[in-house]
Amino acid sequence: MSKITIRNIKAILTAPAGINLIVVKVETSEPGLYGLGCATFAYREKLVASMVEDYLDPLLKGRDVSNIEDLWQLMNNNSYWRNGPVTNNAISGVDMALWDIKGKLANMPLYDLLGGKSREGVAVYRHADGRDLDTITENVQKFMDQNIRHIRIQWGGYGGDAKALNKPAGAPDGVYYCPDQYIRNTIKLFEHVRGKLGDQIELLHDVHERIPPIDTIRLAKALEPYRLFFLEDVLSPEQGDWLKILRQQSCTPIAIGELYNNPKEWDYLIYNRLIDFIRVHISQIGGITPARKLAIFCEQFGIRTAWHGPGDVSPVGHAANVHLDLVSHNFGIQEWAGISETLHEVFPGSPILKDGYVYANDKPGLGIDINEELAAKYPCQTRVTQWTQTRLPDGTLYTP
Ligand code: MG
Repeated sequence: MSKITIRNIKAILTAPAGINLIVVKVETSEPGLYGLGCATFAYREKLVASMVEDYLDPLLKGRDVSNIEDLWQLMNNNSYWRNGPVTNNAISGVDMALWDIKGKLANMPLYDLLGGKSREGVAVYRHADGRDLDTITENVQKFMDQNIRHIRIQWGGYGGDAKALNKPAGAPDGVYYCPDQYIRNTIKLFEHVRGKLGDQIELLHDVHERIPPIDTIRLAKALEPYRLFFLEDVLSPEQGDWLKILRQQSCTPIAIGELYNNPKEWDYLIYNRLIDFIRVHISQIGGITPARKLAIFCEQFGIRTAWHGPGDVSPVGHAANVHLDLVSHNFGIQEWAGISETLHEVFPGSPILKDGYVYANDKPGLGIDINEELAAKYPCQTRVTQWTQTRLPDGTLYTP
């Protein structure tokens, strides 16, 4: 077979659901043969696009599409400094696109190329929240009626509602919350929902790293009677060492990782068995190539996968999640934020949720395409990010 080479790499920016998405298209020397990958870093979209078009395209143009591992290492080493979120997302876009191309050449869906299915459908968890206990319980019931068995519950936004906070004079703008009030309400929430809806569902919760380390231990212990499927992001990456102490004191399952970029942030948590679920954001770690290695590494230590699946992952990224979920023996659960009708129109072939499970389609590669003309009708907006400006009651900034 004659060599197929990379002809052009471009970034496609689109926001069909109001969230900036970055998709990479790798075009080849073979007419009509191209691949797509997710490079979505919603809050720094122009930097990722520049990384793709100004640095990776010239680096890879003319190279053989076959050797994905070598090209991944080349991209990773080329800027000398490694493991940053902008570079990793750009690398991910190209990496996923190369796997997509590989699948098209082999005429196999990605899950087949990676060894075949371990399961037919992918169980997902959905998000139920609300401003009061009855609304949240109703929202959980709605998902239960759709045969969703895993449901994340939150009272208010991350950190809970922040009514009636006594801020100091001159306190700056921001997203205010009170960690103590949030912890008390979260325990009440679990007591209420378990009491109303019983033991037949799996409940999850996301702390979003918004409480001090010692309070994560208090919360994990207090939630034990409610048998969580997992407690998510109890600690910021910078405070990961606290998991050693938490682990000795609580059997609430721990899921962590959506903020991780560097293998050094997760490797010791895995080989010391300090977590139960790894939930990295696949484009943030550099794509399918490192995610597949990470899943297999976790398998050796009895740790399951729960890849990050929010709205700021493109449908191409969701497809990559789902293909890995189908393959990995140690799959745990998939977060599912939902793919709107408009997103389905822009990204034909997006994974589909049906009766509690998500399915990939059986087309070669990732099985997903992009309607570029339609994508162009939803331009990205570059704006100052507000929700990450989180503050404690006295106005101190805290991790978002
Ligand atoms: Mg989360």
